[in-house]
Amino acid sequence: MPASPDGSQLTVVVRVRPMNEQEKTKRYFQCVFPLDKKRLLLVDPEKYEKNILRANRQHERQFGFDSAFGPNSTQEDVHEATTAHLVESVVQGYNATIFAYGATGSGKTFTMIGTKEQPGLMSLLTRSLYDKIDLDEYTVQLSYLEVYNEVIRDLLNPSAGILELMEDDKGNVRVPGLSSVRAPNMNRIMQILQEGNLRRTQEATEANKTSSRSHALLQVNLMKNNRQHGKLFLIDLAGSERASNTNNTGQRLKEGAAINRSLLALGNVINSLSSGNKTRYVNYRDSKLTRLLKDSLGGNARTCMIAHVTAASGHYEETYNTLVYASRAK
Ligand code: ADP
Ligand code: MG
Repeated sequence: MPASPDGSQLTVVVRVRPMNEQEKTKRYFQCVFPLDKKRLLLVDPEKYEKNILRANRQHERQFGFDSAFGPNSTQEDVHEATTAHLVESVVQGYNATIFAYGATGSGKTFTMIGTKEQPGLMSLLTRSLYDKIDLDEYTVQLSYLEVYNEVIRDLLNPSAGILELMEDDKGNVRVPGLSSVRAPNMNRIMQILQEGNLRRTQEATEANKTSSRSHALLQVNLMKNNRQHGKLFLIDLAGSERASNTNNTGQRLKEGAAINRSLLALGNVINSLSSGNKTRYVNYRDSKLTRLLKDSLGGNARTCMIAHVTAASGHYEETYNTLVYASRAK
């Protein structure tokens, strides 16, 4: 298996999204800066205001990752550094999982799905997989599902209703009834993703009108002689903002708790993997998300987390939380 830059099975990168017009009119300023290919500088706007002696740099903090992508980075830049090298390991029969983590509006769906003009990792990765394989020998099957409040639904076939997660006696995880399709070209892949994405459970919250409260998982299965050979999960996680940030009550609050539970379970799994302590117990049972990913996290599987932040100073709190979460994962 090709080694990641530092030889580990876990890669953590951060992508900074550019400020949009709305943020510029609010007179927010850029508070995250790439220092080099691996480090980001975060400026605390409040401390910056108070700190008259700016030469002491008390308003600044540095974070280091496997890669850091600034506001001008392209989809290809991110693909090159994260998913491109995973294709080889999947062809060799390994599994891999790629997460997009971050608050609502930080750019997760842009990175994962993107647009027709700027296709995201789900398309770029699937295309590189097609480029790599002999189509007489292999087929590629796509499944697309969401986990919302610990309930699984098929994003390709909504009429399938609620799906269950099963484990056979060998511990293999399956979702009976989940549909899969062959996607022969980029246009078709993009169409599948965009249609599926519209079916995601999206609710109005005060923080953002179309905040995604569900985790969306694209499963890319590489089949050889109708047998599963290797598989990839590409996951657009629910927004990581805290329930308390959005004045949510009732159902929204419960949802926030469920989202945080699966994100927490995921964080715990990733932490146990990255700690390098093989004897530490990895608890996949804590959430549907981690159960689904059981054979694609840890072991021989490769894991990549792409954390997303907004450059604008008005989102400092979320940005700080995300950078701390991501740097702890390493
Ligand atoms: P999330 O899925 O994390 O809620 P989105 O991916 O929907 O966030 O991004 C929010 C908005 O910002 C969208 O309009 C998206 O097109 C835009 N955006 C996100 N990342 C980038 C980027 N790297 N470059 C340009 N626009 C971006
Ligand atoms: Mg989204």
